[in-house]
Amino acid sequence: MQPVECATCGNQVLCEKFSMAHTSVQWTADAAVVCAEFRDRVTAGGSSARIRTCRALRDSIDLAVEKGTLEVADVRADV
Ligand SMILES: [Zn+2]
Repeated sequence: MQPVECATCGNQVLCEKFSMAHTSVQWTADAAVVCAEFRDRVTAGGSSARIRTCRALRDSIDLAVEKGTLEVADVRADV
């Protein structure tokens, strides 16, 4: 697991990228407390347990992969 910070809410999660399509995200804090997007969805009646990431966090994860700070397990980065 590698730490990735959400560019929007500043929340830090632990990420494991198994492949480009498969990302495991582990929240280190209560998502509904630290992330405004989560909070909005929970307030709207959604269950936070069913939400994996907020959009901004997913973008941040993609960016981390692009920059090479988050390694993808089954893809070799071109160095
Ligand atoms: Zn967020």
